[in-house]
Amino acid sequence: MERITWNQYFMSQSYLLKSRSTCQRLAVGAVIVRDKRMIAGGYNGSVSGGVHCIDEGCYVVDGHCVRTIHAEMNALLQCSKFGVATEGAEIYVTHFPCLHCTKAIIQAGVNAVYYSEDYKNDPYAIELMQQSGVRMQKVPVEKEPLQHEQQLLIRQMIEKLESSDDPEAEQLVHEASQLLRMENR
Ligand SMILES: [Zn+2]
Ligand SMILES: [Zn+2]
Repeated sequence: MERITWNQYFMSQSYLLKSRSTCQRLAVGAVIVRDKRMIAGGYNGSVSGGVHCIDEGCYVVDGHCVRTIHAEMNALLQCSKFGVATEGAEIYVTHFPCLHCTKAIIQAGVNAVYYSEDYKNDPYAIELMQQSGVRMQKVPVEKEPLQHEQQLLIRQMIEKLESSDDPEAEQLVHEASQLLRMENR
């Protein structure tokens, strides 16, 4: 069996954390790693004890949800709460960090940022990281292969859709076939 790389391993962990997010606008996960060990993790969610966006809706000001603390910030604050050094650590984030988080990441002494998805990549954030020698690397997460049952279900759905007159069906058939083709590479 092929061993998963460290990059894929830690990036996958950040996606696992992302699934704990309580904000409906964008779910993000982050993992801080030092010497190939996870020292903290975070996802974007409310302040401890606060209400959740998924229950009460987002609290939007100027187009941003202000209720949540970002995943990267939560992970860094977990380190400060428990007195764990972040100097020389690396961070794995599902999405490219915003300017505020970037500043905190640099200031905490983190020296590498691995991200899987581009997200409004802030040019000033990039400039700041370059200036302070923080390595940026895109590590797209490799998706889990589809299970046999999932493949069967997709095939059945394609068959049903192919006999439909709905104009949207054609597009869905195309997308579903794409999924299967990716599997059989
Ligand atoms: Zn929200
Ligand atoms: Zn942020």
